[in-house]
Amino acid sequence: MQASQEWIDGFLFVANRPILDFLNTRPVLAHGPTELLPDVRALERWLIASGMAASPKTKAVIRSWRDSAEASAFLKQLLAFRERLREAVVRIENGSSLSEAFLAEVNSLLLQYPLPALLHRRDGKVIRETSFELHRPTDLWAPMADGAADLLAETESSRIRKCESCVLHFFDTSKKGSRRWCSMNLCGNRLKVAAYQRRQRTSNASVN
Ligand SMILES: [Zn+2]
Repeated sequence: MQASQEWIDGFLFVANRPILDFLNTRPVLAHGPTELLPDVRALERWLIASGMAASPKTKAVIRSWRDSAEASAFLKQLLAFRERLREAVVRIENGSSLSEAFLAEVNSLLLQYPLPALLHRRDGKVIRETSFELHRPTDLWAPMADGAADLLAETESSRIRKCESCVLHFFDTSKKGSRRWCSMNLCGNRLKVAAYQRRQRTSNASVN
């Protein structure tokens, strides 16, 4: 994967799962932990970059939230949810069991904001696709809760992993299931260089 596909409009897309890409909107950059979704405009940009907001109609709806107090309040709740989800993902990665409170929270979101999967015709074929329409900010709970639920119920949970050298999480879709880094460009190469330098230093030391 090229670096240009990993970064879209200042956001990282390396996780293979939109919900994990969402989790990765608070990475640790050179100057420390960085909130990439500080305001509703940033959320708008992320929704477009992630492809969650694709149609002109949806984009127009999100644009209309820019100065909305409701959208700001929603974003605050969404970011708090993101941190609880992070805790749950770390538990999955550590092999610990998930908290009842978080399961109950996700269940209540699933019930309140269901994501219907309907039949559509495309190129002469019938496909089944989740369909959700955005009207209000809280409608975003539907895809978020759905993505979180899929993640928590993932049967191949060992493929949910944290990068070995940074705070980013990903779902390993590689054939062997041996992916170690968020991205070759971000961490993989850096670590390989560091390991190479360490080996060089050790071999130099043994010569002396
Ligand atoms: Zn990394």
